[in-house]
Amino acid sequence: MASGPAAAAASRRHARVLLDRLKRRYPQAGTALRFADPWQLLVATVLSAQTTDANVNRVTPLLFARWPSPQDLAAASPEEVEAVVYSTGYYRQKARAVVSLSTDLVERFGGEVPADLASLTGLPGVGRKTASVVLAEAFGLPAIAVDTHVGRVARRLGLSDATDPGRVEADLRTLYPAREWAGISMRFILFGREVCAARRPRCPSCPLADRCPHPGKTA
Ligand code: SF4
Repeated sequence: MASGPAAAAASRRHARVLLDRLKRRYPQAGTALRFADPWQLLVATVLSAQTTDANVNRVTPLLFARWPSPQDLAAASPEEVEAVVYSTGYYRQKARAVVSLSTDLVERFGGEVPADLASLTGLPGVGRKTASVVLAEAFGLPAIAVDTHVGRVARRLGLSDATDPGRVEADLRTLYPAREWAGISMRFILFGREVCAARRPRCPSCPLADRCPHPGKTA
């Protein structure tokens, strides 16, 4: 990472060029998870661990039809929830997680999803990444969710040299103004899936190749 005012300004310019290009490539960058309110997105995001958003979208209509509110899911039997979320994998842990976070939400927040990071990450099973997705996508607040794609893309593009997600997030917060934060994560994820893949990045056709300092570039 850069140090000194001139180097910091150059890093911010580099970061801006990259994000501008990703915005052109992905003009509408939002989560593919379907949700009607912050609670549904919170539950859907917990269910999305280790599976695709499409898989989650297949089960959530039934889940929310059967238990339409945090109060309903808090009162559900985990075994019945397991049967509904089975196809998303890790169904036992996920069923218990969504029931217990709904219970906590009802008991401590009257069933309303809090719109701040500290309260969200205080809910059982809700980490910083999940909380950031909810803040950015459901509330439109400045938050950057760092998953494996975001971390890898940020490192390859020279935006961070950290491996810890919290430090990558801090580096990105330094490089970009707060108004951009909510749009960073989903664009980096899409780009990381489609182009800058973990194993075989498509460097020859990459729209950021001329700006990419990654030493392992394939062209
Ligand atoms: S040039 Fe290759 S390593 Fe660099 S961002 Fe593009 S795909 Fe990723």
